[in-house]
Amino acid sequence: MAAVRGSAGAGAKGVSVIRREARVRGTVQGVGFRPFVYRLASSLGLSGLVRNTSSGVVVEVEGEEGAVSAFLEQMVASAPPLSHIASIDTRELAPAGREGFHIEESALGARPTALIPPDVALCEECGREIADRQDRRFGYPFTNCTNCGPRFSIVLGIPYDRPQTTMARFAMCADCAAEYRDPGNRRFHAEPIACPVCGPSLFLDGRPAADALARAATWLAQGRIVAVKGLGGYHLACDARNAGAVEELRSRKGRGQKPFAIMVRDLPEAHRVACLEDQAEQLLTCLESPVVILPARPDSGLAPGIAPRQSTVGVMLPYTPLHRLLLDRSPPALVMTSGNLAEEPIEHRDEEARLKLGPVADHFLSHNREIAVPCDDSVVRCAGGLVIPVRRARGLVPRAIPLGIEGPPVLAVGGYHKNTFCLLRGGEAILSQHIGDLDTAEVLDYFGRAVDHFGQLLQVRPEVVACDLHPGYLSTQYAQSLEGVRVIPVQHHHAHVVSVMAELGLSGPVIGVSYDGTGYGPDGTAWGGEILVADYRSFERAYHLLPVRLAGGEAAVRHPQRMALSHLRAAFSAGEAERIALRAMPDLSAVEVQVVMRQVERGLNSPLTSSMGRFFDAAGALLGATPRATYEGQPAMELESMAAAIAEAVPPYPYVVEGGLLDPRPGVRALAAELGQGVDRGLVAARFHETVAAFTIEACRRVHAEGGPGDVVLSGGVMQNARLVSRLIAGLGEAGLRPHVHREVPPNDGGLSLGQAVIAAARSES
Ligand SMILES: [Zn+2]
Ligand SMILES: [Zn+2]
Ligand SMILES: [Zn+2]
Repeated sequence: MAAVRGSAGAGAKGVSVIRREARVRGTVQGVGFRPFVYRLASSLGLSGLVRNTSSGVVVEVEGEEGAVSAFLEQMVASAPPLSHIASIDTRELAPAGREGFHIEESALGARPTALIPPDVALCEECGREIADRQDRRFGYPFTNCTNCGPRFSIVLGIPYDRPQTTMARFAMCADCAAEYRDPGNRRFHAEPIACPVCGPSLFLDGRPAADALARAATWLAQGRIVAVKGLGGYHLACDARNAGAVEELRSRKGRGQKPFAIMVRDLPEAHRVACLEDQAEQLLTCLESPVVILPARPDSGLAPGIAPRQSTVGVMLPYTPLHRLLLDRSPPALVMTSGNLAEEPIEHRDEEARLKLGPVADHFLSHNREIAVPCDDSVVRCAGGLVIPVRRARGLVPRAIPLGIEGPPVLAVGGYHKNTFCLLRGGEAILSQHIGDLDTAEVLDYFGRAVDHFGQLLQVRPEVVACDLHPGYLSTQYAQSLEGVRVIPVQHHHAHVVSVMAELGLSGPVIGVSYDGTGYGPDGTAWGGEILVADYRSFERAYHLLPVRLAGGEAAVRHPQRMALSHLRAAFSAGEAERIALRAMPDLSAVEVQVVMRQVERGLNSPLTSSMGRFFDAAGALLGATPRATYEGQPAMELESMAAAIAEAVPPYPYVVEGGLLDPRPGVRALAAELGQGVDRGLVAARFHETVAAFTIEACRRVHAEGGPGDVVLSGGVMQNARLVSRLIAGLGEAGLRPHVHREVPPNDGGLSLGQAVIAAARSES
C-alpha cells in the first residue's frame, strides 16, 4: 500500500481545526472511491469535498486534527476492494469553515493521467438482486453497481464519468437517479447504473424481445449455435455436451483443433467438468473472472471436440448478469468462444458481427449497450500449484504496471503472434488487451485504431517507438511508418526476459531463460532456446539450444514431423535417422522422409533454428502427437498432456552443456531407443520434460558459478508448460538460484510489448 507523503503540518500546532488536501493517484475512479471518502469523512464529522480530476482524486478535509489524521489513515487502510492507491500527496490549507462534505463534479481540462478501471465481474449483492422476485432489478441482465459491471469496455474518454461512456444515451429514471445521488447507496455514482425502466435491453436476431433469454436458452438446449453479445464482444455459444453442436461450431468457425473455452453455470458444475486443485476456485470466482485452464475430468460428459487431444479444459463462470441469467435457463455448460473467424479480432459492433458471424451462428442474442473497446476474456492456467497467465485482457486491462524507471513516453508494438501493444508514461506501463495474430491488413488496421484510442484515453504522445528486430513483421513496418518518433528495434528474447523483470520490478542483471517458437536473432537465424544474461539495456547470449534446420521454414510449425526428422538427422546418420523415423511415424512414406532429410542436409529453404518450442514439437511428433498442427505449439501441448499421468520423479536422458551450447543429441538417441523398446509414451514424455529442465538448470548453474547473477527469470511461450516450469522452479532453487516467473503478464508473445517498451525507455536515456 502507498505511503502518505506530504508536509508535516507546519502552522497547525496549537490549532485544533485544520484543513488538509490529499491528492490520490492510482485506480481511484469508477471503483466507488468518492462515495467511500464521503462516508468516511461524514462518519468522522469532517467537512470538505472530494472530486475526480484527470490525475486521480482530490480530497479536502477540514476538522479536528485527530479526526483528519484518522481519516487519512483509514482512507488508505480500508479503501474499496477495486481501488488501488499508487500514491498520496498531502498539503496544508487554511481552514475555510465550510459546512458538510460534498462530492463535486469532475474537473475537466487538465492532462488526464487517471486510470480507467478494468471491467469487473458481477458482485454477490447484484447477483442476489437479479434472483429476487421482489427486487426491481429481478432478471435484469444489465444490473451493476459501484463494485461491479462494465468499465473499460464502455469508456469513450476520460475522466471516467457517465457522459464519457456508451451509457450516455440512456437517461436515468427517477429511481436510478436517486440511487446515484444517495451517498448511502451501493450505486452512489455508479456510472453505468441501469434498471429495466431506463437501461439497455435485449435483442433477439436484431429485434427487441422480452423473452430473449428463455428463447436463446431453448435454442442452445436444442443444439443451435447462438452468438451472444457480452461485455467485451460477441461470443459463439453452444451446448458443451452436445458433440454434434460442438463439431458444427468448430467447422463453421474454421477453428482447427484449438480448444474452446466453456462457461459453466456455477462452481458445482465446474467441479463436474474439471479437477479444481489449489487456487482454482479462487481464480474462477475472483473479480477478474478469467478462463481458467484446468485438468479435465475424464467423466465430464463434455463433447470430445471441446479440447481435442488435450487433458485440460478452459472453464469460466458467468461474469455478467446476462451470462448468469442465460446459464440459469440453458444447458449448464456452454461453449463460450470468442466471436471471430480464425484469429481475427473479437467482433464487438452489431452490424459487423451480423455480417461476419452470420454464417456461423443460427441466432443472435444481443443488446443496445455499445461496446467502446473490444476485450477478449483473460486466460490463466492452473496446474501443479502454479498459476500461469496465458492471455491478459478483460478484468486486467488497462490496469497499470508500476515500473522502477522513468523515461520518455514510449509505444511498443509487440511482435506477430497473440499481439498486444504497450504504452509507457510517468513510470508505469499500460499493456493493451489481446489483439490477435498480426498477419492481415484488417488486423493491422484494428491494431492502429486501438493504439490511437489508447493514446487518446491516456493522453500519451509517444516519442519513442519500440518494435521487434524482425523486418518482416507488420508491427515492425507499422512502427517504421510513424513519423516524428525514434524507432528502437528490440531483440525478441531480450524483450521476453525484460517483460518478467519489469513486471516483478527486477532491475537486473538476471539470467533470462527465454524459450519459445522463434524470434529473429541478431545473426539472422531463428532463435528460440536462449539463456541470456540481461539487464534493461543489453544482453549476452550465454547458452542456446543446438541449432538444427527448420525443415521447410515456417511450414515446420504446421508439420511437426519435419522437426522430428530434423532433430533425428542431427543426432543420427542418414540411414539410422530414416529407419527410426519410419518406425516412430508410420504414416510417413519412405519417399516423404527422404525428401525432408535431403532438404535438411542441404539447408534448402530451411534456416537454422535454436527453437525450444520446435524441439518440443519434434518430441511430440515422435511420440504420436498430431501430424497436422492447427495452432502454434499444438504438438508441444499434446506432449505435456501425454506426460500428465506420470506423477513420480523420473531421471533425465543424457545431454551435454558445453561451450555455450545446450546439446540434446544424446537425449534424442536415448529417447529413440526407448521408443524402439516400446517404453510407455507417458514415461518417455515425462523424461523428455525432465531432460530439458535438467540441461537448463545446469546451464544456469554454470553461468552463476562463473560470476553471473543469481536471479533467473523464465519467459517465452514454452513457459506455459506447467510441468517444465514446476521442474525449473524446484531445480533452480535446489541449485541455490532464485527463479522468477510471470504473475499477470503472459510468458508468450502477448507479453512481448512490455519488455520492448522498457528496453526502449532504458536505451533512450542515453
Ligand atoms: Zn454489483
Ligand atoms: Zn432506472
Ligand atoms: Zn516469443
